[in-house]
Amino acid sequence: MEIELRGASHEVLEELAVANRLLEASSPQEIIHWAAERYGQRLTMATAFGPEGCVILHWLASVAPTTHVFNLETGYQFKETLELRDRIAQRYGLEVVLEHPETTVEEYEQLHGGPLYRTDSNRCCGDRKIAVIRRVLVRFDAWMSGIRRDQSTDRATAPIVGWDHRFGVVKISPLATWTKAMVWELIVRENIPYNPLHDQGYVSIGCWPCTRSVTVDEDERAGRWSGTAKTECGLHSSDH
Ligand code: SF4
Repeated sequence: MEIELRGASHEVLEELAVANRLLEASSPQEIIHWAAERYGQRLTMATAFGPEGCVILHWLASVAPTTHVFNLETGYQFKETLELRDRIAQRYGLEVVLEHPETTVEEYEQLHGGPLYRTDSNRCCGDRKIAVIRRVLVRFDAWMSGIRRDQSTDRATAPIVGWDHRFGVVKISPLATWTKAMVWELIVRENIPYNPLHDQGYVSIGCWPCTRSVTVDEDERAGRWSGTAKTECGLHSSDH
């Protein structure tokens, strides 16, 4: 089913530009609080249970625990990632909704004569992530993600809050100005649950077929779609 994208009026873009300027110097908790106040139950959060997502969930549990949170369950996630969802639920009482594609992995691979991640990873991400997030975001006015500006050149200009042309909703990035070191310092200090694969050299963790561990001198997203030109699945492409 084709989903019609919403556009933003001049007034909405102006409001977002003002909010973005005001929030640039705010703490992530203040940004989350602002988002929850401004959008209420029309706010959602997407998480792949990376360290940044876990940190946001840690705050969300006290700031706005009834916020809808979802994970794109492609069918190719590591078991450690799905177990982390259970650990988050036990620690914070937050239920992260698993959003599935229309087909199971078995059906999908049968349909395409084998795993598409080997031959057409853009189509695979398109079917198993992008189509699913479009279907979810159409029910909301704003979504929150854990991207940081220092993760990659694609993400370096991400605003705190802005219009997400790709999905026709407002996008909020409370950790945009944070560094990896700040995220991990908080995780250790607050004993926040995290994916144990990080202790095995995996830095950025997505689906298992498209993720490898990295060495200390590699870029933190070098382990994603390694050996190909692909750097993003399309959720956070450069127009943010
Ligand atoms: S990351 Fe890999 S397995 Fe996951 S949806 Fe994209 S191509 Fe498919």
